[in-house]
Amino acid sequence: MSRPAPLTPVEPRSRAALRRRLCAWFARERRDLPWRRTRDPYPIWISEAMLQQTRVEAVREHYARFLDRLPTVASLAAASEDEVVALWSGLGYYRRARALRLAAQGIVERHGGSFPRTRAELLALPGVGPYTAGAILSIAFQLPEPLVDGNVARVFSRLFGIDEEPGSATTRRLWALAHELVPPVTDAEDVPEVSPGNWNQALMELGALVCTPRSPRCDACPLARRCVALATGRAEELPRRAPRREPLDVALEVLVLWREDTVLVVRRPAEGRMAGLWELPTRELTATGLWPGEHALALATEGSELDRVSHAITHHRVRASVLPGRWRREPDAPDPARARWATADELLELGATGLTRKILARAASGADRRPSRLG
Ligand code: SF4
Repeated sequence: MSRPAPLTPVEPRSRAALRRRLCAWFARERRDLPWRRTRDPYPIWISEAMLQQTRVEAVREHYARFLDRLPTVASLAAASEDEVVALWSGLGYYRRARALRLAAQGIVERHGGSFPRTRAELLALPGVGPYTAGAILSIAFQLPEPLVDGNVARVFSRLFGIDEEPGSATTRRLWALAHELVPPVTDAEDVPEVSPGNWNQALMELGALVCTPRSPRCDACPLARRCVALATGRAEELPRRAPRREPLDVALEVLVLWREDTVLVVRRPAEGRMAGLWELPTRELTATGLWPGEHALALATEGSELDRVSHAITHHRVRASVLPGRWRREPDAPDPARARWATADELLELGATGLTRKILARAASGADRRPSRLG
């Protein structure tokens, strides 16, 4: 990526002071997260991919399970897509999981299994964008490479008073600042805690813990003294937000069929949203197209509603009516590629949609109107 011209020059002395203050704060306040205990680029890469759009607490458990099963880039490259997607189950945005496996194959085939150390080579891998490349290069290899994620964008917007509509010009400005401010490697020798990796992580940590989207804790902020938004009383107003996309309402009918301690699940199509994941037989009553076709099997409802579940999938607001199901015509044996009986543990291995896991968890906890035979 060519280096953009700095749009908001920061005096060299101010730059050094910012780095020292923020990195010293990070050394004191950083959370002890599993992926921060290593310099190995593989687990750092996995954690960064998982953390995009996902809460830290949700990532912790998945991260440990993923690395337990696929501890090296070679093991990820050799894994089946189904296995990788199953390990990703619950994190959403399944394209990331598929891209990880393809990128691991690229690293094995083109780089002999070692992570490349240049931005251009990393960006050539499937699913690796400027943020992920910056994270791997700075955190694992301590190279002076910048990154910008939502947290960094918020901190910079407030710190430098960037009051602009979101868009490509603003994105370029934020990246220019990130380039300008990331410490050169030599600083790491002068002040040990100031390094490219610590600086980038400290910015993200400040955005996560202090400079939060709502009610930033400016009284606890190490950068408060030079923050434009704080000085002008606009901390909560910046950054400007993109106009909200109206949520789409989706109504579903979800059937539950038990057989001893197993439940019937069907597989979603290989392409599109939540591709290849397993779910309870589902029919969409609205017409967003997320659940095309009937229940995919000869099923009918039987009896009254067991539960009513709300669920969010990106900008879709899902309301699911959970009903007991019955066969209209029971197949001799369901095609195992499309439908199967599964226990709770097997579902975890197979990879189930978030809505299905939520419905079954509610049933297991007795939140629906009938005791579960799962779990
Ligand atoms: Fe964010 Fe407040 Fe710190 Fe400014 S002073 S960077 S608004 S937390």
